[in-house]
Amino acid sequence: ELHNAVVELRGNIRVHCRVRPVLPFDHVQSSTSASGPAPSEEVVCAISDDTVMVNCLKTGMPGQNKMFEFERVHGPEDSQDAVFEEVKPLLTSLLDGYNVCIMAYGQTGSGKTHTMMGSQSPAESSTTQQEAQRGLIPQAAAELFRLISEKPAESHTVEVSVMEVYNNEVFDLLAQDEQGNTAGERRDVITTSSGTSQVPSLTHEPVCSASDVMRIISSILRFRAHCPTLVHTESSRSHLIVTLTISSKSPNALALARRLQRAKKDMQHSPHKEWWSPRCRRANPAARYSSDELLASTASSPSRSPAHSPCPSPRHSIAQTPFRTKLQLVDLAGSECVGMSGVTGAALWEVSCINRSLSALSDVLGALAEQRPHIPYRNSKLTHLLQDVIGGDAKLLVMLCVSPTQRFVTESLQSLGLGTRAR
Ligand code: ADP
Ligand code: MG
Repeated sequence: ELHNAVVELRGNIRVHCRVRPVLPFDHVQSSTSASGPAPSEEVVCAISDDTVMVNCLKTGMPGQNKMFEFERVHGPEDSQDAVFEEVKPLLTSLLDGYNVCIMAYGQTGSGKTHTMMGSQSPAESSTTQQEAQRGLIPQAAAELFRLISEKPAESHTVEVSVMEVYNNEVFDLLAQDEQGNTAGERRDVITTSSGTSQVPSLTHEPVCSASDVMRIISSILRFRAHCPTLVHTESSRSHLIVTLTISSKSPNALALARRLQRAKKDMQHSPHKEWWSPRCRRANPAARYSSDELLASTASSPSRSPAHSPCPSPRHSIAQTPFRTKLQLVDLAGSECVGMSGVTGAALWEVSCINRSLSALSDVLGALAEQRPHIPYRNSKLTHLLQDVIGGDAKLLVMLCVSPTQRFVTESLQSLGLGTRAR
């Protein structure tokens, strides 16, 4: 097992697709002429467990029907539980030492928030009905704490942070002002000398259960909706990033192997020039540890409070710092903002920021898929921020959310194209 963990290097990006059902709001009044398909016509279909078809004949677009294959395709009838079932193994990977990212990509109204957070059931619905609507974030948190409770010896601690990327700026949504009120504060993203990305002074809240996590996220989202001056009100204009950081004072052997491998790989492949300088090599003893040394030294590593801890400087050997992995759950901005005609001023800036960050993401995914030597993470705050979870040995799941209807077929094709590029 240890050996496998060390040799396994690639195949870490998976793309799943979820086609949502046709919903009442899809049946809009058609303003255009009666000819051609109705806007609510169902033209994007999940035709098997791994294939989506866009019915070009129906849409009136030229050419054959288009097929797109992904690792897994969910149709309109698939429940939240069915979607989570395919994601579950990633939580085990997290405790085995991998960084993990799950991101929802798609146009506004395609079901990203429904998939990630879930939808509010009517107040009168039963607890079971509400549970059934829970999205990936609450389910992943619950599974994480379940797995942790099975491994008390590894003494894990978990912290949550919530960020928003808007107009290419990062906001810490858990930051509080002097009065203790929530106030989104601007933050920087930096690359540490070990080549990982970091957000200095980001607020981390310790959490002990999935309900802690959800309480914190819900209060933020409620607050955000009522505070236009904070960042903005329209959530589809920003990327929301929930991070769960897991620290372990005595990680399992597999996690230790990952840690060793990461240190070795950093030494060999780091794209950051400074890593290669002899000065930096001397400063970082981590890369010289053997797995035996790691196993021996981590068992007796001093405990440190994980809350608000600074980034581990290269001078700390990796054996001294608590072992950390992160799970990042991302609800991306709507991907439909491609047209800029008739938009001016602040709105134009906003649209171009969304365009740029999503195209930077597409470029990163494309570069990774093509195994190019340089991955352009630094082209946007979004990709810079997510650098540790969308490359290297991290496991990334892109959940493409698509609407089934004619009205959004152009956006759906664009999303399906991005998913194809990432594979
Ligand atoms: P997005 O976040 O991509 O803009 P939402 O998740 O808000 O889209 O979805 C838009 C609407 O469609 C919401 O009312 C949501 O409850 C509903 N919806 C989305 N996906 C599904 C689904 N798979 N089943 C039922 N309703 C859905
Ligand atoms: Mg949304």
